[in-house]
Amino acid sequence: MKTKTCSKCSNTLAVSMFYKNKTMKDGLMSTCKTCDNLRRRERALANPEYENARSKAWRKANPEAAAAIRKKSKDNYRANHYDKYIAGRRKYYNAKSAKRRAAKLKATGPWTIASEIAKYYKATRALEYVTGIKYHVDHIVPLRGEGVCGLHTHSNMQILRATDNIAKSNHYSIT
Ligand SMILES: [Zn+2]
Repeated sequence: MKTKTCSKCSNTLAVSMFYKNKTMKDGLMSTCKTCDNLRRRERALANPEYENARSKAWRKANPEAAAAIRKKSKDNYRANHYDKYIAGRRKYYNAKSAKRRAAKLKATGPWTIASEIAKYYKATRALEYVTGIKYHVDHIVPLRGEGVCGLHTHSNMQILRATDNIAKSNHYSIT
């Protein structure tokens, strides 16, 4: 195993414990990853604005690398804190469905006729059965649209292919 001695903590470590640095003779930093990370953290704590601006600029210049790092740290988090990850997801989806329920309640009124709405759902299931494609019952004017709020009523409903509905999201253009 190839090793190197850190110039700061003096530990002799595997070369994999050193970040790469093209300007160095051996292609590696003189200080180990632990020391580098510590130094970076201290620097960030001492001057958070400067560090934030610096990493923001780097992310802007290296969008793909930044996305890869983001994904990796997300994956790591998920692997190392699985329970927390699940709890977080649950909280997110609960909040989302609470919002959806509230919007539905707000859009519900004398115009909401359960038996008429049920017909849409029944037709959707039948369509799925015949075509083998997933369909959604969609509110033509979204209940939580951008600047508009549709009503929860059968006259504001349509059957859409699930993929089209997901693409539509909450967009609705007022013409
Ligand atoms: Zn070190």
